[in-house]
Amino acid sequence: MTTNLQAYRGSLLHFLADPAFSDESHPSHDWHEDGLLIVADGKVQAAGDYATLHATLPPNTVVHDYSGKLLMPGFIDTHVHYPQTDMIASPAEGLLPWLETYTFPTERQFEDAAHAANVAEFFLDELLRCGTTTAMVYCTVHPQSVDAFFTASEQRGLRMVAGKVMMDRNCPDFLRDTAESGARDTETLIQRWHKRGRALYAITPRFAPTSTERQLQLAGELAAAYPDTFIQTHVSENEAECAWVRELFPNARSYIDVYDSYGMMRPRAMYGHCIWLNERDRQRMAETQSAAAICPTSNLFLGSGLFDFERADDAGVLLSLATDVGGGTSFSMLQTMNEAYKVARLKGSYLPALRMFYLATLGAARSMQLEGTIGNFAVGAEADFIVVDPQATPLLQRRTARRESLEELLFALALLGDDRAIAATYSAGRQVHVRETT
Ligand SMILES: [Zn+2]
Repeated sequence: MTTNLQAYRGSLLHFLADPAFSDESHPSHDWHEDGLLIVADGKVQAAGDYATLHATLPPNTVVHDYSGKLLMPGFIDTHVHYPQTDMIASPAEGLLPWLETYTFPTERQFEDAAHAANVAEFFLDELLRCGTTTAMVYCTVHPQSVDAFFTASEQRGLRMVAGKVMMDRNCPDFLRDTAESGARDTETLIQRWHKRGRALYAITPRFAPTSTERQLQLAGELAAAYPDTFIQTHVSENEAECAWVRELFPNARSYIDVYDSYGMMRPRAMYGHCIWLNERDRQRMAETQSAAAICPTSNLFLGSGLFDFERADDAGVLLSLATDVGGGTSFSMLQTMNEAYKVARLKGSYLPALRMFYLATLGAARSMQLEGTIGNFAVGAEADFIVVDPQATPLLQRRTARRESLEELLFALALLGDDRAIAATYSAGRQVHVRETT
């Protein structure tokens, strides 16, 4: 069997640990100003110094030269709604009116499989343009919206997580399943898609207010029956929503306790937002290895609140960053970092750029229990990587020319960068996006 060997030269960065919890004896990252990434059959074979590794290559191996640019693992967006692509940047006064006015009518269109396929293709193009190689994706209540999404991601060979929204109350009839039909359709989709190629399934009750207790119970039973599937939902996003949950579930200790009581806090459970949590909630997240998807552009756009990084870190919650498009206002994880940084400042804490790049790569992979598969350049990991251009715009070029440290370089990319900074995107060693230059 011949090996398909590819080598890429550039400044190389990937993470080994969370910068917030590492020290000199346990470095958080591996950085090579002149680095080389060697990919064999879609997996990382080696990552390190060009001078050292180049000598190990068989003669005549082509080295793709990205000198002056950064090679890093592809970004991971842990919470995004592909059906909401067409309604990004829609004005509304807060979450609940926004759902009524825009979200539900837009999601209705996904009854139509051809429409779903069309949006899925655009959505994946957009992710790859922004350097995002894995996402945790909400589809709609329609099983065909899941088939359309996974069919499109499979054709491109992408590592994607997605699931059918389960929603059997407090929504329009045209988007309503029942506890039984939602569970049955979910199980069929798990059997069809989970671990087929690079697809992974997420059991996806939209949020507690739109599921009956029976539906949550059945979702929890599926989560137990298929322990390596994902769970994704929303929790404690804004205050009006939290008040509504208190009315609907008067016996629950808290919002997240509703999910806990149905067995939905476990490894591979991803909770979107997590703003209005209390100490006990954060402890439960840490104990159960449930993870938080922090969605700063969405939280600012909808006026939902500010994520508390300090309290989450004190409790040891698994953290990741997410766009939450269409509530989020950008598909770019760089723009998401930009807003995460400001949210942290408003809460009195400080997020170094190194931490933000960690959260968007290895931190997300750890939150998803996928370390070793995606998120860094560990030997044998899937070669999902991006080429980042610090000279993508005149302003970036001018600012990064003056940088004096890696932190400054990454900070400028996070604050000033967007899809234009992504020169190329690779998935399992295959180029899936290249930026068009004018
Ligand atoms: Zn969301």
